[in-house]
Amino acid sequence: MSTLVSPDDPTHLKKQPPTLLDLVKHVVATDLAPITTDIDQGFYPADVMRSLAAVGAMSAHLKSPHGNSDFCTALNAMASISRVCGSTGFLTWCQSVCGLYLQNASSAYLSQTLLEDHVSGFTLGGTALSNPMKSFANIEKFQLFATHTANGYRINGSLPWVSNLGPNHYCAAIAQIQGDSGRQVMFLLRCDGDGVQLQPCPKFSGMEGTGTYALHLQDYEVGADEIIADPAGPWIKRIRPAFVLLQTGWAAGIIQASIASIRAAEKRLGHVNCHLVVQADGLEDQYQRWWQDVMALAQNPLDEQDSFFLRVLKARSTASELCLVAAQAALLHQGAAGYTMSSPVQRRIRESHFVAIVTPALKHLRKEIARLEAQFG
Ligand SMILES: Cc1cc2nc3c(=O)[nH]c(=O)nc-3n(C[C@H](O)[C@H](O)[C@H](O)COP(=O)(O)OP(=O)(O)OC[C@H]3O[C@@H](n4cnc5c(N)ncnc54)[C@H](O)[C@@H]3O)c2cc1C
Repeated sequence: MSTLVSPDDPTHLKKQPPTLLDLVKHVVATDLAPITTDIDQGFYPADVMRSLAAVGAMSAHLKSPHGNSDFCTALNAMASISRVCGSTGFLTWCQSVCGLYLQNASSAYLSQTLLEDHVSGFTLGGTALSNPMKSFANIEKFQLFATHTANGYRINGSLPWVSNLGPNHYCAAIAQIQGDSGRQVMFLLRCDGDGVQLQPCPKFSGMEGTGTYALHLQDYEVGADEIIADPAGPWIKRIRPAFVLLQTGWAAGIIQASIASIRAAEKRLGHVNCHLVVQADGLEDQYQRWWQDVMALAQNPLDEQDSFFLRVLKARSTASELCLVAAQAALLHQGAAGYTMSSPVQRRIRESHFVAIVTPALKHLRKEIARLEAQFG
């Protein structure tokens, strides 16, 4: 007797264990969807972050004990989250990219002990790399400074905004080493460390629930076991394509949700919306072509060649542009219903603008793309 079961047989489907994406979608529907307005208004969703981490939403891109990593699944998980809440999608990126730093840290304490807590969501952390990324691109000067001590470094300086923080959280940061202008150190910055002050930011027009604070460091001591990379420069060159590419998952959810909002208005307003320039089918087509490209890049995201980084920068730039166009088109299609404060359509307008201004901002991307294109003639 044959034991083969047709894949279309519903009893067969029921027996399949849930995939990581099924589990993520379940947490999103049950825990995240009911609190998106609270998050938009400033509630930091720590418990949801922990539940998402616990089902693996923030670790598929990390190397398993067998050496495998799956960036495609990580990106799709992030998209499922930001489709419902762009702020939590951004927090997912913060936690995911911080996990990538920890896994690749030179300190065994960070790459093993802390990483385990981080992956499970037991501890939460962010990435304070906007200033260094802009400094490496000659857009601004380093804002943190390090001096050697017997056991590591002493850090001073301030950063105006870092997300996914709280009193017991941490983030990865980079400081310029005093007296050695070409060298930087990357380290773990603990929010509860001596000499660290967390200050509330001015009220933003969006992303209020992202646990974003200003950080002030006065004589903050970093021991050898909390150093991620020293020197940081070559290490950053290795990690930066993954840093940038991972943000596309967050953008994808906002684009998907915006296209869905356009389609949802079709029955009620299709007779007049058909006169708008941007339509769902055209956007969907652009989205699918871009996403196919992203999935191809995600096969080998740690490729260090400049030609690969250029492709990643272009994909990230398209992410910002598509987000802006899609979110605005959704509002034009939805009309007043989308303009109410309770509508996710107007919230996505604000989220999409953040996609375009967070580092690497669209202007930063265009600068780097121009530099690399000039290099390749
Ligand atoms: C909600 C939110 C969350 C963020 N989360 C993170 C994060 O997790 N990690 C991270 O590294 N960065 C974070 N940033 C910073 C972000 O990535 C960008 O670097 C920032 O928005 C500046 O972008 P820009 O390159 O367009 O610089 P511009 O806006 O062009 O500004 C130029 C410089 O002036 C500084 N500046 C402008 N206004 C102020 C101000 N009021 N106070 C102090 N400095 C100011 C900017 O920081 C920048 O260095 C966050 C920003 C926001 C608004």
